[in-house]
Amino acid sequence: MTPDTTTSQGRLTGSEWGLAMAPTGLPPERIADMDMIDWRPFRAEFQILFGDQDEIISLSTGSGWRQLVWDLCVTLEELARQQVAEGHHPMRVSQVKEKFGCLRFYLASGTGSLAEKAFELIEAAEERSGTICEQCGKPGKTQTLRGWDMTYCPDHWREALKEKRD
Ligand SMILES: [Zn+2]
Repeated sequence: MTPDTTTSQGRLTGSEWGLAMAPTGLPPERIADMDMIDWRPFRAEFQILFGDQDEIISLSTGSGWRQLVWDLCVTLEELARQQVAEGHHPMRVSQVKEKFGCLRFYLASGTGSLAEKAFELIEAAEERSGTICEQCGKPGKTQTLRGWDMTYCPDHWREALKEKRD
């Protein structure tokens, strides 16, 4: 793909996804005013998973991945409940963030035999995040803007590039 995929009006002239690189001179940054997930409903709903605030390093991803993360937490909370029922220490969320354009979901696995299942679920969700716009939740694609990987839908790719020209 070539860097020259937008016109001066910001319209795409290449394929819809033809934005593998920013036009020359644009700094590689994420969309500045991205909506981030509000974690309060997660803390309220998943009381085991988010039960130890001291263990949480940071929670920071765009709200486009909210449903993906919510669905993952529903299943993990069930596993955590099983751990508690079996007399084990339950799994706890320690960090949720974006890295290389995809979701990264870190868990302290607790004790017992359910950790492997939890990590399989997490891996599947992390992989899926590469197909979902981190900003709005529409179908998206991971691409590299001068060394930075991000996953956006076509509209938000356009926005990301336009911002840098203003
Ligand atoms: Zn989007």
